[in-house]
Amino acid sequence: MKWSVGTGIGVLLIFAVFAALLYQSFSNILLRQEKQYVTDAVGVVSERLSHDSGELTDSNVKPLLSSNFDSVEDRQGASSSLYSDSLFVTLSRKNIGVSVYNLDGKGLFASRRVPIKFDRVGPAERIKKVNGTNVYVRRSAIYTKKNHELRGYVQVTNRLVEYDAARNKLLLIFLVFGLTAVLLCSLLGYILSLWLLRPIDDINETIDKINEAEDGDPVANIRVPKLRYNDELSNLGNLFNDMLDQMQRYIEQQQQFVEDVSHELRTPVAIIQGHLELLNRWGKDNPEVLAESISASLQEINRMKSLVQEMLDLSRAEQVEIHFGKEITDAREVVLQVFNNFKMIKPDFVFVLDDDLNERTAVQMYRNHLEQVLIILLDNAVKYSTERQEIHLSVAKNARYVDIAVQDFGEGISQQNIKRVFNRFYRVDKARSRDKGGNGLGLSIAQRLIEGYHGKLTVESVLGQGSVFRISLPIVQKDSKASDIKSENNGIAK
Ligand code: ADP
Repeated sequence: MKWSVGTGIGVLLIFAVFAALLYQSFSNILLRQEKQYVTDAVGVVSERLSHDSGELTDSNVKPLLSSNFDSVEDRQGASSSLYSDSLFVTLSRKNIGVSVYNLDGKGLFASRRVPIKFDRVGPAERIKKVNGTNVYVRRSAIYTKKNHELRGYVQVTNRLVEYDAARNKLLLIFLVFGLTAVLLCSLLGYILSLWLLRPIDDINETIDKINEAEDGDPVANIRVPKLRYNDELSNLGNLFNDMLDQMQRYIEQQQQFVEDVSHELRTPVAIIQGHLELLNRWGKDNPEVLAESISASLQEINRMKSLVQEMLDLSRAEQVEIHFGKEITDAREVVLQVFNNFKMIKPDFVFVLDDDLNERTAVQMYRNHLEQVLIILLDNAVKYSTERQEIHLSVAKNARYVDIAVQDFGEGISQQNIKRVFNRFYRVDKARSRDKGGNGLGLSIAQRLIEGYHGKLTVESVLGQGSVFRISLPIVQKDSKASDIKSENNGIAK
């Protein structure tokens, strides 16, 4: 509606300006033409009456003018010379009236009866309304040709009937055309906007359906219908559907997460409950059972604590870009530090470092987060190593990325499981992983952290032979930024 009203007003304005200009210039041309007739008449009469001398009187005016004018109608078919007489042509014009006055303003001759009083002093030309018709009046003094003496006056009037009629006709044409154009444009605008805005209607309908859905109604399948037109608004419908799909995925993930968390917490809670019931029934009097139950419960509580901590880490890992988007870290320094720490903590393992960087290399990542990811990967490498207790850590770079790899020669991951190891709470062997203190969240945290800093975490593995986890992080190119590297943890044991 707004669109069509807007179009209508726009067209009306443009048309009005255009019509006004056209009307004005057309009127001017017509008026000029009408004025020209009057000027010609004034000229011809003044010329005819300028030959003699002395003031104009009845007797010297009438013969000069009437000889040409008397009963014009009677002489219509007369000789052609009559038609070439400019005075006759002028005086015979239907709307032209010529009057001659003496010096006192007394009328001596009038070609037609003109209801306009002669005025010797007013403006020489003017337009006056007489009986609803515009009349152009022009007055001129008549002088003798010989010594330029004032003889009298001539007043010529022109009833602008044709001029007025032409102007009215033009106005009517413009009005009709203008209104038709405005109506047509508004209608066209209305139809066009209805047609073009259909995708918006579809989106509105979809939103209404989703809003009106009662609690528990399935909204997962409510989508904007697919549109065949390939324009921006149709794309908007598709984008809206994509957004709904994504929101649906988030909701499902959230539900899955809550389910997973309650499932994960159920086991330790059940174990603690079992022990407490045991103690409650009869175990509290048996110091052996008491000690065992307390120790088992404490173990489960620790597990719950670590689970809660990891869940917190996971949720924070999703917002790294907001909170730590500008942190810069020397990747090599962190790798060396974690490598040395593990060497110290796990003396029964052989750690091999392959350092191709040999210089500070800045990556845009919060130092503690890089450390956390490396610890998760090295921890897993230790946890899932079998006979060959050897872990290789390598760090290298190309033009844009720093690549860090953690390789072990342990149990490896089968091809069907490899896709799922980054999923939350996923463990290849749930019972064994639980024995080793794993919650199945380590790799999810690591992946989210790395991806939060626009990097990639990938894995290659052969079952029974070992796995390689590769991190690739974008290098910060500006040297100035590299010098800002924050060195929070100085306990580097080189
Ligand atoms: P967890 O705390 O159980 O180790 P992760 O998310 O770190 O959880 O790992 C998920 C699963 O991926 C592990 O349970 C394990 O089965 C498998 N996995 C991770 N790292 C390795 C590795 N280096 N070698 C073999 N399997 C691994």
